[in-house]
Parts: sequence; C-alpha cells; structure tokens
Amino acid sequence: MADSALERIGRELVPAVAYGDAAGLPVETRSHQAIGAVYGHIDSLIPTNENPFYVGEFAPGTWSDDTQLTLVIARSLARAGAFELRDIANLHAEAYFETPQVVKPNKQIVKRGWGGSTTRSVERFLDGVPPEACGEKEGKGNGVVMKLAPLAYWHTVRRTGEPEVYRDCDRLTAFTHNNPTAKVATRVHHDALRYLMTSDYNQEEFVQQVLASAKRHEEWLGDTSRDISSELLFLNEHFYFDTQTILDNTDGKGFFVPQTLAMAYGAFLAHDGEFAPSVYEAVNLGGDTDSTASIVAAMSVMKTKGQFVKPADYEQTALHKMLHDTSRELAIRALAA
Ligand SMILES: [Mg+2]
Repeated sequence: MADSALERIGRELVPAVAYGDAAGLPVETRSHQAIGAVYGHIDSLIPTNENPFYVGEFAPGTWSDDTQLTLVIARSLARAGAFELRDIANLHAEAYFETPQVVKPNKQIVKRGWGGSTTRSVERFLDGVPPEACGEKEGKGNGVVMKLAPLAYWHTVRRTGEPEVYRDCDRLTAFTHNNPTAKVATRVHHDALRYLMTSDYNQEEFVQQVLASAKRHEEWLGDTSRDISSELLFLNEHFYFDTQTILDNTDGKGFFVPQTLAMAYGAFLAHDGEFAPSVYEAVNLGGDTDSTASIVAAMSVMKTKGQFVKPADYEQTALHKMLHDTSRELAIRALAA
C-alpha cells in the first residue's frame, strides 16, 4: 500500500470517527422504530435534545466518549511513538476527569457517555491498580472496538507482525474488558480494519476474512462461547444487506460487542462502505448508534483509502480543527518510521 493512501487515511481518521459519533449521539439507545417515528430517516447531523445522558439541547456535531477515547489512543501513539499501555491509561484518567458526571434515569451516577467497564476500570487505575489488572472480567461491551481505529492504523502503517499486534490488542482490551470474547472482538476488528486499509475491497473476500479471523481467534484465545463467529455468521448467508436484513439478524441494539460488530459490518456492507450512506444506516438501525456509526465511519475511510464523499455538514463536528490536527499528527508520526 502506497504511503500516500495511508497518509490520507490517517489524516481523516479522527474527524470521521467524530462525525459518525455525532451522527448517532442524538438517538443513542433509541430503537429503529422509535427513530423512524420521531425523525423519519436521519441523513444529516441533528441537535442532541433527547439523549438521556445529554440533558438540554446540544448543537449538531456534538460528539461523545467514542471520539474522546479514540483521541486518547491517537494522542498516545503520536506522542509516545509506540503502544505504551501506561501512557494510554494515563490519558484515559485525564479524559475521565474532563468528563461530567450525570444522573441516569435509574438514579445511577455515571460519567457521561462512558460504558460501565471503562468507567470502573479507569477508577481502579486511579486507585493504583496496574493497567494490566484493571479490566472487568465480564466486560463484553464495545468500549475497545470503538476506539481501535488509531491502533489498527498505526500497526498497519508500521507493518507490525502478528504476534506484536495481537499482544497489543489483548493488552488494550484487558485494561478495561478482561474477557475472552472482548479480546476476540478486538483482534477480529483489527484484522477487518487492516484488510480494508491494505486490500482492494471485495465484499465476498471481506466477509470470508472476517469469519476466518473470528474462528481463528476464538480457538487461539479459548473463547468457547463462540459468540463473535456465531453473531457474524449471517454476513455469509446473504448476498445483499438492507435495514430489515440487519435487524432480523442482530439484536438491533449493539451494546454487546458481538452485536456491535454484526450491526456495524451489516451497515457497512449495505452500502459498499460508502461514507454517508453506511454511517446513516448505522444511525437509523438504532441502539448504540454513536458507537456503531463511528465504527462504520472509520471503516469507510479505510476502505476508500481516505477518498470518500464528505457530507455537506462534515466540518460541523465540535472542535473540528483539533480533530484534524490530532489525526494529522498521528499520520505523520506513524509514517515517520
Ligand atoms: Mg458514545
């Protein structure tokens, strides 16, 4: 893969993740039916005024933890010049303190937008637990795959060998989600992203690669649940994907990481990875829309090698220049080998 294609991907990665995050945030946790009833079909950034975590109205382009923690990974790689778990953990701690606490409808106090496993793991780290030992044993949410794009990018640019790549994937996962299914999900998503960055995309080949990756990593990591490979199996059983096919074959929520990948990959395949159609497919599916849409956005940037049609409101994301600057620094540092 030419360095110019990888440079384009790197420069767009963080802004694209933020766009997907902002596109999904207003309807996070809503069902496909509820979104349809209130908004019809969403196809542009809208204000966040009914998300239970965001009380009051937030301007179109407001983004959440998915972007915040993607920025953490990108910044750490760019400043450390390598995968350094302790530095990543320190930046998670900074992000934790910057995030306001909100009261959920069930009266639970949480860090706004943050998943439970990530919150509790960072709190253990702040209590002095080494990052390797902080993760939740039952953590099977999407808190790692949603921030994985910069690490997959880094190792693809650096042509890092598999043992080192999977060691870093496992260590990043264990920091918050110390669970075999979560580890399989991270490795599979890494493999999917690397395929998109380095291959001439072909749907059939992408699906076969993803399924082979799931089986391989479940075996290597001893994940006897086989949740990832079974939830992704429907990708091989259809010749085309549309909203109904994806909803019929997933839980329509995507908070559990095997379901997150199933919904994100379905949305991506439904529109051949075209940026805005794939991102808004994920948004209109409902569920953990900001996470699934931000994952799809990163996949689209990688599949198109950074040459995608930007929606008219692409630069309307909050702190757009900072997002671009961080992405550029990641690309420059990754390519400066
Ligand atoms: Mg979020």
